[in-house]
This record gives sequence, C-alpha cells and structure tokens, in this order.
Amino acid sequence: MYDIIVIGAGPAGASAALFAAKAGKKTLLLDSNQSITKKAWVENHYGVKETTGPDLVDTGIEQAKKFGTEVVDTKATGVTNNGDGVKVESEAGEFQGKHVIFATGLMADVAEKSGITTKEGTEPKIKKVIDVGRDGKTNVKGVWAAGTCAGESVHTIITAGHGASVAINVISELNGERYVDHDILK
Ligand SMILES: Cc1cc2nc3c(=O)[nH]c(=O)nc-3n(C[C@H](O)[C@H](O)[C@H](O)COP(=O)(O)OP(=O)(O)OC[C@H]3O[C@@H](n4cnc5c(N)ncnc54)[C@H](O)[C@@H]3O)c2cc1C
Repeated sequence: MYDIIVIGAGPAGASAALFAAKAGKKTLLLDSNQSITKKAWVENHYGVKETTGPDLVDTGIEQAKKFGTEVVDTKATGVTNNGDGVKVESEAGEFQGKHVIFATGLMADVAEKSGITTKEGTEPKIKKVIDVGRDGKTNVKGVWAAGTCAGESVHTIITAGHGASVAINVISELNGERYVDHDILK
C-alpha cells in the first residue's frame, strides 16, 4: 500500500511526488509520457533563468526519485475508492494507495470515467477540468487533483506550485497536523 499515488509526471505531478517522498511518504508516480510541457521553451519560471520543457520535466522526475519516489511508465485507466484506500488500475496492473493525486494535464477523461466530478475549463484551450475544492480535494474520498487538470493557469511555476500545495494538504491529512518542509542553509 502506497501512502500517495500521483498520476502524471509533468510539473504538477512531479512536484507533488517530490514533496510527498521528501516527507517520508511511500510515493508512486505513474506517467504516460504525453506532457505538453515537453513542447515548451521556458523563460518565466521563477528562479530558473531559462530552460527547455523536456529538461524541466526530466529534472522534476529526478528530484522526486532522489527522495525515493517509485516511477512507473504506464497509463492509469481507472481509480476507485474501495473502502481500503484508493485502487488505481493501469496498463501495468493495479496499485493501492491511501491517497491519489490526479496531475494529468489536459486529460480529465480517466477521472470522469471513474466517477470524479468534472466541469468546463476556464483557462484558454482547456476544455474540461476536474472539479476540486481550494485544498485540491475531489468528490471522491482520498482522491485529489493538481495543476492544469484541476483548472489552474497553464504555466509551469503555477502548476508546479499547485502540485506542491496539494501534496502538503495530503501529507498534513496523513500526519494529522499541518506539514512544513524547510531545509536550512548549512
Ligand atoms: C508549446 C507550449 C509552450 C509553453 N510554454 C510555456 C512557457 O513558456 N512558460 C510556462 O510557464 N508554461 C508554458 N507552457 C505550459 C506548461 O507546459 C504547462 O503549463 C504545464 O506546466 C502543465 O503542467 P501539468 O503538470 O499540469 O501538465 P503536463 O505537463 O501536461 O503533465 C501531465 C502528465 O500527465 C500524464 N498523464 C495524463 N493522463 C495520464 C494517465 N491516464 N496515466 C498516466 N499519466 C497520465 C501525461 O503523460 C503528462 O506527462 C507551454 C505549453 C506548451 C504546449
């Protein structure tokens, strides 16, 4: 049983997995390698002078792995709260987690098929998003969403930030108190 399963390894998902694993949570990251970020040249990501989208995505996954995130290249096909946490079905088999975070970018299809409420997107070129509360929670217990698929503005610094913010809410729920991740300059 994983503590947190993240679906999607773009800026939102990898950022969420980084915070989750760095908090000592057993973290799984599933990805189908269709990130729109891989088409980007980025000069507006705070703190990073300039980078290619592919480099940003690869670095994010490396950061998540550094703290113990398991990464499986596969497509998730369904998510169900089965009373014992959340089951994720994928082309690589089934995985069980206490919490699942959708970070699937432009794609809300699997969430919708799994009975998770979606709504019309409001950002340019974004047709459908997952309906979430301010904390990132969906209508299904244990299922959350972050980044573009959660209706956030389609920019790397914002989707990465939202992934981190939702992960901190999930970690805090698991810990039963608000979580903070600060390292001190030695
Ligand atoms: C041409 C272009 C230029 C851009 N330029 C900039 C820019 O200069 N600055 C900027 O800030 N932003 C830019 N962006 C936007 C930026 O790429 C996005 O904002 C963004 O960061 C999206 O992050 P995300 O994590 O929400 O989604 P994505 O990066 O799309 O990641 C979603 C991930 O989910 C995975 N996934 C989806 N469904 C499943 C499933 N069922 N199972 C497993 N995995 C799944 C996909 O494979 C993908 O890897 C640009 C975008 C494009 C297309």
